[in-house]
Amino acid sequence: MSAPGELRERLRATPAVAQLLPALEDLQPVYLVGGWVRVLLGFDDHRGPVDLAVEGDARAAARTLAARLGGESREYEQFGTATLTTPRLELDLTPTRRETYPEPGALPVVRPAPLTEDLARRDFTVNAMAVGLRGDDLGHLYDPLGGLADAAARLIRVMHPASFTDDPTRLLRAVRFETRLGFRMDEETERAAREAAETGAPATVSGPRIRDELIDLLSEVEAPAAIARLSELGIDRALHPAMRPDPELVASAALGAMAIEADRALAALAAVCAAAPLELDLWLAGLQLDARDRDVVSWAARMAQPLAAELRSRDHPPSELRALLARQPRESLALALAAGAPPEPILRWISDLSHVRLQISGADLLAEGVPEGPALGAALDATLDRKLDGLVSGREEELRTALELARGS
Ligand code: ATP
Repeated sequence: MSAPGELRERLRATPAVAQLLPALEDLQPVYLVGGWVRVLLGFDDHRGPVDLAVEGDARAAARTLAARLGGESREYEQFGTATLTTPRLELDLTPTRRETYPEPGALPVVRPAPLTEDLARRDFTVNAMAVGLRGDDLGHLYDPLGGLADAAARLIRVMHPASFTDDPTRLLRAVRFETRLGFRMDEETERAAREAAETGAPATVSGPRIRDELIDLLSEVEAPAAIARLSELGIDRALHPAMRPDPELVASAALGAMAIEADRALAALAAVCAAAPLELDLWLAGLQLDARDRDVVSWAARMAQPLAAELRSRDHPPSELRALLARQPRESLALALAAGAPPEPILRWISDLSHVRLQISGADLLAEGVPEGPALGAALDATLDRKLDGLVSGREEELRTALELARGS
């Protein structure tokens, strides 16, 4: 699998990478790293952005590639990294570097270093491989830490025992890669993970870094298995003592989200919070999701179960379904389905009732002399309810009803 000739052929047969190769020829030494190495070696099928490690100035390399391939590069001062988006490709470029952690959980201090040192700072051996992309080096596999052997043995292994305390986001990454790849942490790695969780390592990490890894984990098809594994290792409780996610609920919320086109990761996150929504609300705020996403998750976590109970309790006429469901984000509905709400009213609301509109508008009532104000809106609203319940049909009847309601007659 690792013979340079064979990998060279695979690189050339992999469109996302092959189209890059001519543009790299006279650049600084540049290597394929990250997820596409796993894909190329045949033990992952996830196709994210192409990660390139550059021995030298990654930002300058991104500018050159932008000029050659078209597209836009963005540069990031802090670690000298850059991204490039071309019409056909997304690239992340990082300079090869050495890292030291000034304190556990903090962002590392980085210095330029050759590729082999860069590979040694990575999270797991199976992620610490690189493939040469230029000239004679094309297709050469750099595997100084035995990643290929670990991949063959289906193992996730950290480089050193302090890895998880240096960067506790690796706890979430380890579980994500375990479930995604069908691998397992080796004994020492698992022991280190349990210890890091027990000693509260995740508390040292900023909310946004936890958020990014957690959302990645919850976006995986295997998210429910990953949640179960987080609990088994004590990582959930290390994130917050009240966190007791139910993998079944997460699984059903993710399925529900797919059925009704809600955001799967947000529905799953709401499911994670649903067991203790009030206790977890501050933790959720600390993740610094964007304001809408945070509201959605927080609302869904609190409201989905009572909503499911109400929908289960009896049949609701369409106007009541409107009152119950119209303001609910899709993720709440997904979680309500997961929490045992009958699917029929929710699907009926989404596919049918939510699209029903009046044939009249406020302008028609104004034209009939109804003054502007809340009564006008309330009359339209109540008319729509009657239409939904089949009590009013046709433009004339809508207008008559709305006028009666607006005039209080
Ligand atoms: P995916 O795209 O599915 O997330 P990936 O491996 O490409 O997989 P990225 O998060 O893009 O993941 O990271 C790219 C590479 O950077 C990883 O393969 C790993 O080598 C390294 N890396 C990412 N996060 C860390 C971390 N917290 N500690 C050490 N190395 C990391």
